[in-house]
Amino acid sequence: MLMLEHHAKLLLAEHGLPVPEGIALAGADAGPPPFPAPWVVKAQVPVGGRGKAGFIALAQGEDELRGALRRMLGATMKGHAVRECRVERAVADGQEAYVSFSIDAKRALVNVLVSAEGGVDVERKAHAIRTGAAAPDEAALAAEIDRLTAALPQAIAPAVRAAALALSRVFLARDLMLLEINPLFVRADGSWMIGDAKVITDDNALARQPRLRQLVEGEAATYPDVAFKLAHGFDFVILDPEGEIGLVTTGAGLSMKLVDEMAAKGVSAFNFCDIRSGQMRGDPARLIYALHRMAAAPRIRAVLVNIFAGITNLAEFADLLMRALDAVPELTAPLVIRLVGNGEARATAMLGALDGHAFVLEPDLDRALAIAAGVAPRKAEQFA
Ligand code: GDP
Ligand code: MN
Repeated sequence: MLMLEHHAKLLLAEHGLPVPEGIALAGADAGPPPFPAPWVVKAQVPVGGRGKAGFIALAQGEDELRGALRRMLGATMKGHAVRECRVERAVADGQEAYVSFSIDAKRALVNVLVSAEGGVDVERKAHAIRTGAAAPDEAALAAEIDRLTAALPQAIAPAVRAAALALSRVFLARDLMLLEINPLFVRADGSWMIGDAKVITDDNALARQPRLRQLVEGEAATYPDVAFKLAHGFDFVILDPEGEIGLVTTGAGLSMKLVDEMAAKGVSAFNFCDIRSGQMRGDPARLIYALHRMAAAPRIRAVLVNIFAGITNLAEFADLLMRALDAVPELTAPLVIRLVGNGEARATAMLGALDGHAFVLEPDLDRALAIAAGVAPRKAEQFA
């Protein structure tokens, strides 16, 4: 999950890193912040390039502050509505440096990038970036940071080194996928300050990151997908509100494959879903939730149920599915059901008794997909 800058900076400040004083404001008339001007007004959207797009503004006083807030709040940047701005104490002087850590999953290493020349045009200053990689432990990262920062201009190297060392510890402690500071302000006296922070968390590590979990749960409107997963224990993401096919599927990889294959057939999936049938334990709540969302979607033509069961018993799943259908009578789209694996025969027999809802059982994945996508000619009796 990509954190908003404001939350990323709260996190870094909690780790003792120097972050400019700042507050989040959702309205223009809240009064001045409790620290002196000049202020920087920064739109909180989960995309970069705000400076160039006019969503970072310097305000010398209250009038300019209100003006900038009025201009940004409610505006849209790259498809994201600005609901909040971070207003912070402007960093008066300082060179703009750059530091980042990111997971290189293929090599099981951490990529480390440092540069004395950061800022909004960092991509065009690629020649100045020193890159390396190290094992994901403090000592290995420290050694790599020493090596890389030794090559930077002498005036700035100690500050970038100190910042990078402190940041590397947060990166490891919080199980981050990406921690990028651009700009890292470095003043003439060698002190440094976090100018901007881009943080991507590893959502699979949230179980052991109570502070990150707390943040997500407290900001459920900002991080709806992750908050949903934490609350309900499974993935359900609306991909296209106008999508035509609802998916009730298990397995993240298989679900993604289905979404892709539908796109290739020219139909759009309404949702991505990993229902984790093995964890439902006799409770159809997850299915009821998914079917409710589909019943409320305006353009769904069919619901594709695709469950491949190893340990899960499909007869149990079929029972839960029938109970969920009973609980969501407003769902009128037909179901295309593919159940393969443990308990298949009993599940099929049980579903044969399902009445009141149009469905077709199709054990072949390609045919099930084609029927759901409306590509294959449907026989009238299939949806009798
Ligand atoms: P981004 O464009 O979305 O990456 O937003 P940033 O937070 O990185 O801000 C973009 C640029 O605005 C920075 O590279 C700085 O040049 C400038 N900027 C942001 N905050 C400050 C500040 O406190 N003081 C100064 N002098 N410049 C700032
Ligand atoms: Mn930036």
